[in-house]
Amino acid sequence: MVRLTDSLAEIADVSARELQTLRAASFETVGDVLLRVPRRYEDRRTTRTVASLVNGETCCLLLHVYSAGWRFSYKRYFEVSAGSPDEPHGARLLLRWFNMPYVARLLATGMDLSVYGKVKEYGGKLTMTNPDFEVMEDEDAGLRLVARAMGGAPIGDVERVSPVVGVHTGRIVPIYRGISGMGTRRFRSLVFDLLQQLPPQVEQPGYDVAPGYPFREALQDLHFPTEPEAYRKARLRFALAECFARQFCVAWRRRCTLARTGRVNVSSDGYLQELLASLPFELTTAQRRCVDEIRADMASTRQMNRLLQGDVGSGKTLVALCAMLLAVESGGTAAMIAPTQILAEQHFNNFRRLLAGLDVRLSLRTSDRSDDVGYVPDNPAEADRTPRLLVGTHALLYKKNRPANLALAVIDEQHKFGVAQREQFVSSGECPDVLVMTATPIPRTLTLTLYGDLDVSVIDELPANRGEIVTALRNPSNMKRIITFMRGELAAGRQIYIVAPLIDESDTREQAAATSEWNKWHEIFPDEPIGLLHGRLSAEEKDAVMAAFRANETHILVATTVVEVGVDVPNATVMLINNADSFGLSQLHQLRGRIGRGRHKSYCILLSSAKPGEPGREKLDVLCRTLNGFEIAEEDFRLRGPGDVLGTAQSGLGAVQFTEWLSDMRLIHRAARDAAAILDSDPRLELPQHAPLRALVAPETEQGVTA
Ligand code: ADP
Ligand code: MG
Repeated sequence: MVRLTDSLAEIADVSARELQTLRAASFETVGDVLLRVPRRYEDRRTTRTVASLVNGETCCLLLHVYSAGWRFSYKRYFEVSAGSPDEPHGARLLLRWFNMPYVARLLATGMDLSVYGKVKEYGGKLTMTNPDFEVMEDEDAGLRLVARAMGGAPIGDVERVSPVVGVHTGRIVPIYRGISGMGTRRFRSLVFDLLQQLPPQVEQPGYDVAPGYPFREALQDLHFPTEPEAYRKARLRFALAECFARQFCVAWRRRCTLARTGRVNVSSDGYLQELLASLPFELTTAQRRCVDEIRADMASTRQMNRLLQGDVGSGKTLVALCAMLLAVESGGTAAMIAPTQILAEQHFNNFRRLLAGLDVRLSLRTSDRSDDVGYVPDNPAEADRTPRLLVGTHALLYKKNRPANLALAVIDEQHKFGVAQREQFVSSGECPDVLVMTATPIPRTLTLTLYGDLDVSVIDELPANRGEIVTALRNPSNMKRIITFMRGELAAGRQIYIVAPLIDESDTREQAAATSEWNKWHEIFPDEPIGLLHGRLSAEEKDAVMAAFRANETHILVATTVVEVGVDVPNATVMLINNADSFGLSQLHQLRGRIGRGRHKSYCILLSSAKPGEPGREKLDVLCRTLNGFEIAEEDFRLRGPGDVLGTAQSGLGAVQFTEWLSDMRLIHRAARDAAAILDSDPRLELPQHAPLRALVAPETEQGVTA
């Protein structure tokens, strides 16, 4: 008997070399192997006779070996002539194995086999080349296999079949994702053997979400199901367990934060009104609603934990700034944390312009730069007490830099940070209000999982003054016409972004690519001033390049993806993206969000030679079809999965095996409801049956999540 927690090192038939291979693929315990979800299944149930076989079909059947031996033609191969066991004079199937000499040692006349492969007709004879096969060890085994294939035998019966029988054939067979160094067949045998050795009453580790469907039975259904229905049911059970574990932590976090007493940041709104009066536009209804929601949170005695979501260009930054001004006016400091230096600088410059007329102190803190603008008192002691607005990178989070008297922390692009970082603000003893923003919309199922512990405000409306955006996919061979079009826009006084091909290795190569792109366009438009922006420039150089483009001193800006975020030049109406297929969908949507910011009609030109059906093409079609960021987010996740979109390490999703994010919406909701119900009935998790749940939230407490 084995336990799920047993190390694979203790399993007798796992060789030292196999152990190494498994460990390299992160399999340490029996449980790791048994909870590996098959990628797909093959129906290899045997229901056929040789006489009924058709050329070209793939199937599984029971055979008796009538003769076996080596053959020579252009190559040496081992051949078995086989037929259905009860038809000694019936039709024959020739099984041929090339380059597999060991097969000769396994097979002999008189044996019964279960065989799976593709039937091919050669010179009037039906053959199978290199079929998967198993030797039936005793006469009864074959019969039992058939019985099971017909759906007659209960699952428990498998234990009584000799282990080498019917693992790879004669049943619905699991196909696992490849493990480098170990074949599917060997891995499948291992799963089978371990399942055999698992005690019948083995229980779900942790909290059992579905006690009515025994864990042991679900494992059997997952790997060796008798019906397709069974593995679907099993997957759902494991997915629910996975969702539940995650949602329970989210619900726990939510309870903890709801129980916290926060600062009461209530104030008059003089700064806010001043800012709004200075803007050349009005807030949208959605923006106003979000500001109101945030303001109510800030004024309440509990700590604000709110997510601000909205599409690119919907004006999230401005809403955040409104909240920051309210915090400052209430007498505290407001800090905005950006994931990168460039972003922090952009917010800083943005705020500097927006706050030009206001008597507020604004500071930038990144590892490279530190700037103070606005009202700076002569007396340094007074300076420390002056309410202020801080913009910085996560360096701001470290203990010694943590701003004193923090009333509000705004975290931009939360998914690049973890919960632990969010909690850093709180552990300082103060309990500032927290507002987090996402750069692009995320699908609803993920919102519930990643941000289920937060209140959510959505800006579901774009400012009315936006011009139309046309998106077109063009082959690079159309360059002549594209250039003519660009010339027209330049003549009309508009500006153009050109995004250099994506290079994800080093900054140096990215710089080289951007520079050669610049040279190319300089030759095409020798009389146009062209700017060049890439990550290698110093902060001052970047500022200068951006300032020149914003002031319309340069008409074209050749840039790397550093323009992806924040940059805001309403007069720019064309964005040309080289090798568009190499960018991610959400990234392309962000890039496109740089145009269409003024009242002119704008054009996003995606350069790519990807044809329909080729990799990278589908997302470009999505982009041409819709401008809706929420829809694009769903598609991006469908195409790439959340790990790739958000980056698994920091996304807070952890390793996910069973959940299918976009289709398991109901499951995620159910998990959230179950979690809430448990916490309602036993808020402190004191009941003995909730001990596994206490263990589940222990890591949360370690990250600083406490009531
Ligand atoms: P996001 O961060 O959501 O992508 P931004 O906050 O960067 O969007 O806003 C995009 C641009 O729209 C900025 O130039 C901002 O000043 C402007 N803007 C914000 N709100 C409005 C509004 N209500 N009407 C017109 N323009 C707006
Ligand atoms: Mg923004």
